Amino acid sequence: ETYPLQRESEFSWRIEPTGKMRVPGIIYADEELIRAMDDKVFEQLCNVAGLPGIVQAAYAMPDAHWGYGFPIGGVAAFDADQGGVVSAGGVGFDISCGVRALRTGLTIDEIEPVKKQLADALFRQIPVGVGSTGRIHLNDKGMTAMLRGGARWAVEQGFGEMEDLQHIEEKGCMAGAVPDEVSARARKRQQDEMGTLGSGNHYLEVQRVAQIYDQRIATAFGLRENDVIVFIHCGSRGLGHQIGTEFLKYMVLAASQHGIELPDRELACAPINSELGQAYLGAMRAGINCALANRQIITHLTRQVFADVLPKADLTLLFDVSHNTCKVETHLVDGRKRKLYVHRKGATRAFGPGNPDLPETLRAIGQPVLIGGSMGTESHILAGSEKGTELSFNSACHGAGRAMSRHQATKLWKGRSVVDELADRGIIIRSPSMRGVAEEAPGAYKDVRAVVDAAEKAGLAHKVARVEPHVCIKG
Ligand code: 5GP
Ligand code: MN
Ligand code: MN
Repeated sequence: ETYPLQRESEFSWRIEPTGKMRVPGIIYADEELIRAMDDKVFEQLCNVAGLPGIVQAAYAMPDAHWGYGFPIGGVAAFDADQGGVVSAGGVGFDISCGVRALRTGLTIDEIEPVKKQLADALFRQIPVGVGSTGRIHLNDKGMTAMLRGGARWAVEQGFGEMEDLQHIEEKGCMAGAVPDEVSARARKRQQDEMGTLGSGNHYLEVQRVAQIYDQRIATAFGLRENDVIVFIHCGSRGLGHQIGTEFLKYMVLAASQHGIELPDRELACAPINSELGQAYLGAMRAGINCALANRQIITHLTRQVFADVLPKADLTLLFDVSHNTCKVETHLVDGRKRKLYVHRKGATRAFGPGNPDLPETLRAIGQPVLIGGSMGTESHILAGSEKGTELSFNSACHGAGRAMSRHQATKLWKGRSVVDELADRGIIIRSPSMRGVAEEAPGAYKDVRAVVDAAEKAGLAHKVARVEPHVCIKG
């Protein structure tokens, strides 16, 4: 099947509603990115566009690639009063997977002499890899408190500072979490996994600010050229995955009872105004808190390592943003303010200047948008734009996006040689899995510069700084 893409502008493409589509599909990309995009993305976008209660359009970001049900890099908003749905596959299995960026108060020449020592210490102190466990063991009561409190809970437990909470979405604590909706199995999977990075694409990266694109915003973000910063990318570990798996199954089973016809079983969803929809939202929000707590604990461990290796370091939080969520937000649709359930799957929230949900220090500037590239290429920091609300419900890309499957990547690269080649370029990789490194080889991803340029030119967000990797602790 071919998809009739109409070019709307240089950086946006439209699929008019046909068949069961209720709204158009809109893809933000340049010509090269759209040509390289898997047809599966368009198919999935059209399927999403047919879900009940969808508002305005189903969107794909420039880093979009094929995902489970919804494309990764997909955005869709639903109105509860118009039969709108919530979808476990539309949030993604790694609930609230996200990126946080820390300033270190150091410049590159200060870390260069101890880079290897820093890499080894981070690799020793921060649990990473499949099934990695941490030093925190939660009993059921502790688990419930964590699921309700998120990063706020973590700070109360001694992991980090109250000040950190100002620079986390939802001030570090997602409201409306219902720990009782999180099954015993999900809790069990998580009891020893707090403060762990997990596997694969998850990482902790020490980076240098290589270029500033917007001096005013960079200053407001506290970033200067040659500064050292840290990106932490991870999510809700086994707990989020278990919630996603269970609710997907319930949503498939209940679909017909809710009168929902599924073009693809992977798109399973439930009306927002149904018992199952509400149960999922309660569990998913608890999953968000798990991810926020997890990144907060890892931040604490990172601070301890820096304090040991580079006592002068002062790690402060620039921002923490999730890219696998469903959040209730108000957006202007056809001139009318509407309360919507915005699904972002592999898409970053990108609130523009003036948004009341931003902390005071960032409100005049816009939200930091943190975009990973790969362990061997640049990554980017952008800021949300004013126009973003009409273009994409204030959403932007979340990475470069995969250009090929993990399996294909392992045929093209060997982990060991990827590590050696990067070492020659001054990038130290530490990973428990050489297969994982091969799957994540820089060449397996799209050109991140092209992706962020498309996001900027489409108006989704504004480029602020380019960063380059120096140390990457990789799952
Ligand atoms: P995802 O959340 O979909 O798993 O990954 C988000 C994005 O992170 C990917 O699209 C990719 O561009 C980026 N990424 C993956 N691995 C790394 C890494 O080791 N370092 C950096 N900076 N970015 C990465
Ligand atoms: Mn993840
Ligand atoms: Mn992620």
